[in-house]
Amino acid sequence: MVMKQSYAVFVFVTVLSTAALAASGKQPAPPGAFEGAPPQYTRFSAPELMRGFLVLSFGSDLLIGAKPRGLRRFNHPIRIAVTGGGSVDRTEAMRNVVADYAAKVSNLHLSITPDAASADIALRLIDEKDFTAALQAAFGAKVTKTFVRRTNPQCMTSVKSDADGAIVHSVTFVIVDKGDDVFLDCAYHELLHAFGLSNHDQHNPWTTLNQQRRVGYLSIYDRALLTLLYDPRIQPGMTAKQVRATLPRVIQDLGLATPDQRK
Ligand SMILES: [Zn+2]
Repeated sequence: MVMKQSYAVFVFVTVLSTAALAASGKQPAPPGAFEGAPPQYTRFSAPELMRGFLVLSFGSDLLIGAKPRGLRRFNHPIRIAVTGGGSVDRTEAMRNVVADYAAKVSNLHLSITPDAASADIALRLIDEKDFTAALQAAFGAKVTKTFVRRTNPQCMTSVKSDADGAIVHSVTFVIVDKGDDVFLDCAYHELLHAFGLSNHDQHNPWTTLNQQRRVGYLSIYDRALLTLLYDPRIQPGMTAKQVRATLPRVIQDLGLATPDQRK
């Protein structure tokens, strides 16, 4: 009987601690989001940020070439070229998305260039019907077939990195003719990939990189992950072990996590 009671108390305490650590501060989608965009949580614990970062910055849907050693990201200011196209003119809207990233994650040192040939990220706006042909032209028929069969993508990003994890070039296709929600979701989602968060996580309820979700804005959570990726202490090529050792300090210094209320 005594044993049973103390066990019950233990469970109660555990539930309280979990509640104190869980994502909180729910807010509606910010201005500019599409009609019906989901609300977001605005406060996260350090473990919640760690978990998302480790899953989303390592791995990808399709890997071609040598297995990368560790983290991928640009190691210099990023210039992006937006090439308009398709039946709905969304060039200005796409530039606004780029400006949003540039303003909210200053370490990207992100700017728009008119010169697609020399850009670090080549982003093209296209209609859905031209998607497969555009992929074939950019990556060849074989890669396109494998990729389409495996992932049935609506938009896509390819990230080329060197052996040390530094991204050399990203290519992104965003669909413009399937409504505001598809466009904005693709635009924000694919740019996260282009910057180096190349994986998905269908079990993470906060990220845009969960393919079960349609978000269409830069959430506080994804902004935090990208801010971590581009902190000077987080370097291309770092292994998961190195990231695990470094990240808690960076999260703390940047004040990205809600303080642990048990302390
Ligand atoms: Zn994706």
